[in-house]
Amino acid sequence: MQVMMDSQGTGADVIVVGAGIGGLVTATQLAAKGIRVLVLEKYLIPGGSAGYFEREGYRFDVGASMIFGFGDRGTTNLLTRALQAVDESLETIADPVQVHYHLPGWDIAVDRDYETFLAKLGDRFPQEREGIRRFYDECWRVFRCLNAIELLSLEEWRYLVRVFFQSPLACLGLARYLPVNVGDVARRYLRDPELRRFIDMECYIWSVVPADRTPMINAGMVFSDRHYGGINYPRGGVGRIAEALVRGLLKKGGQIRYGAHVTRLIPEQNSVELATGEVLTAQRIVTNATRWDTFERLRKSAPLPNAEARWQQRYAKSPSFLSVHLGVDAQIIPKELACHHVLLEDWQRMEAEQGTIFVSIPTLLDPDLAPPGRHIVHAFTPSWLSAWQNLSPKVYEQRKEDAAARLIERLEAILPGLRAAVDYQEVGTPRTHRRFLGRTEGTYGPIPRTRPWGLLGMPFNRTAVPNLFCVGDSTFPGQGLNAVAFSGFACAHLVATTLGVFR
Ligand SMILES: Cc1cc2nc3c(=O)[nH]c(=O)nc-3n(C[C@H](O)[C@H](O)[C@H](O)COP(=O)(O)OP(=O)(O)OC[C@H]3O[C@@H](n4cnc5c(N)ncnc54)[C@H](O)[C@@H]3O)c2cc1C
Repeated sequence: MQVMMDSQGTGADVIVVGAGIGGLVTATQLAAKGIRVLVLEKYLIPGGSAGYFEREGYRFDVGASMIFGFGDRGTTNLLTRALQAVDESLETIADPVQVHYHLPGWDIAVDRDYETFLAKLGDRFPQEREGIRRFYDECWRVFRCLNAIELLSLEEWRYLVRVFFQSPLACLGLARYLPVNVGDVARRYLRDPELRRFIDMECYIWSVVPADRTPMINAGMVFSDRHYGGINYPRGGVGRIAEALVRGLLKKGGQIRYGAHVTRLIPEQNSVELATGEVLTAQRIVTNATRWDTFERLRKSAPLPNAEARWQQRYAKSPSFLSVHLGVDAQIIPKELACHHVLLEDWQRMEAEQGTIFVSIPTLLDPDLAPPGRHIVHAFTPSWLSAWQNLSPKVYEQRKEDAAARLIERLEAILPGLRAAVDYQEVGTPRTHRRFLGRTEGTYGPIPRTRPWGLLGMPFNRTAVPNLFCVGDSTFPGQGLNAVAFSGFACAHLVATTLGVFR
């Protein structure tokens, strides 16, 4: 099919603002359909929250490192599929354990093998063995429905009709779960309060809210795919994903400009304005900035659309993170240790400022990310911007040092000897996330203010402004690399149909 468009200046039909994974999947999918795309990224490298930085021989992941979506079967392996679409692939390293939880009074590792995990959890809660199986089996039912259909835009009626006739049972199954939260299902099968708290934590580590506010569709994906496609780490670090997508984009005729800070979106005139004053035009504008940044900063002279105001009433900004990136002496890291850990000493503090600690030691999977004899330990914990504002540079630096020292002290419980083994240390705060990722308040993404109707409250890619589309973690289905890849597939599909491209 011929794409007929009158792009001026850029030679592009679509401008994508931001080279996070959401933006890059949109761009590569569009390019693979023969549509001319220009990506504008304000930073020097692609990836956003899935980017990297190098210091003294270490290659640190900025954020994400527990990677879903790299499986080799089904339809939910969206990172594999996004790369394949532009003739790219990455070598990945299978992680035998998704995460090792260190909870008040007990610990458990979630093995890649489903039955091993169920047996372990059943040993901890023998009276709940049957309920545990029924709860997680119900998550599998959601996953099987998702994994049976091609995941594209739910806003595109032709796709909905096609997919319904291809897989009617899967579609009806998913429709049933759309308004359901994990808490509803957990209450049906599980009685022990400690076990229910564990399910809260199972949700919290990726949705940053407990089970009652976590949609069942997302949980079906996470709780099952970890045993199906598994958790797989890209060799060379998470930054390789964005690099490979950019390579694929260029191969398919797309363009990318770094250091291109967009300050205004003017879809009414099919254009965007850069910090330099340069104006670039294209038929469609896709923004990978968060919806808050899109409508409050990049469209600040226009009234907030009612749909966005309603969404903001339903969803708040989640906290950002305090991140400590450490290079450490390898002696203190046993070879059999899991790559990902979660540490919480007091259930009352699960959602508190600097309560739950997330740990990633990616060099256990890929030793080449650090100099010989060294490991990377990346620890992060939720933190609000308000805790870091209005400080003099001296006080700010001191607070960072103190917070990092407290974090390391707590980590000694699972990594004895850590303090003395630190060889390199870099501390990031919500201010760092705001500055380098261009995300308002450094937020990790949207969280429902009250119990949501499952996923029904999340906005899709289309916005109330003609020619302006959103992609990324503040758009259906939410946070996480595989989730924003889904958002990218859906966005590209929808934008392409508005340009008359239906393949
Ligand atoms: C500490 C941390 C740990 C995480 N761990 C995991 C994990 O283990 N597994 C997982 O799956 N997910 C994890 N996540 C979540 C995951 O990284 C994000 O949900 C996902 O990467 C978001 O992608 P995105 O495309 O929506 O946006 P972003 O990654 O925020 O990318 C947006 C891009 O747009 C650019 N941009 C913004 N505004 C402009 C502008 N005005 N002009 C030009 N460019 C602009 C930014 O520079 C950025 O590159 C983690 C996140 C964090 C912060």
